[in-house]
Amino acid sequence: MQNKTSANIDKTVIFCCNGRMITYIGLGSNMGDRAKNINDAVAMLGSAEDVSVSNLSSFYETEPVGYTDQGPFINAAAEVNTTLTPRELLAKCMRIEADLGRVRTVRWGPRTIDLDILLYADLVIDEPDLKVPHPLMHEREFVLAPLAEIAPDVLHPVLEKTIKELLDSLRSGKGK
Ligand code: ADP
Ligand code: MG
Repeated sequence: MQNKTSANIDKTVIFCCNGRMITYIGLGSNMGDRAKNINDAVAMLGSAEDVSVSNLSSFYETEPVGYTDQGPFINAAAEVNTTLTPRELLAKCMRIEADLGRVRTVRWGPRTIDLDILLYADLVIDEPDLKVPHPLMHEREFVLAPLAEIAPDVLHPVLEKTIKELLDSLRSGKGK
């Protein structure tokens, strides 16, 4: 991590704003008051000095993927400026999930709230418990559609395509 950060420092400068890194977080909920859960998570994300939420997509109602025996989700994406490291941001996301009452049962199963770090500036992180860009984001329309609303021209640092290009190719691949 240390090395990757310094190796990328010249490139990531353009993603900084007042010393903060621009990151994108995907949010999903399919239990309880789904819109309230997402709004609460966004408020909690931005409640301390170290994170501010600079943009939020519309809310999208989507059918579950993976484990399909569960209710529909609401998904959204948030642009977040932060002084936290990726790992600190992950810890914050997991704390918010726990505070909002998320209990982990089935993989990809029902959840009050899911917070995923989709992008963290142009960093590439591949550690057992933290992978950025989120490894499945380019395969999931429920992630790309809200993200494309607030970050259409942002480049995926591994695939080297913009979010809009990824969404368009996912949709054309499905024959839409
Ligand atoms: P999913 O989001 O795939 O449905 P979970 O929310 O249950 O799964 O996350 C399981 C684990 O994924 C977390 O404990 C976390 O350590 C790991 N993880 C790896 N990369 C990321 C990321 N970019 N954002 C959030 N969690 C991540
Ligand atoms: Mg998650």
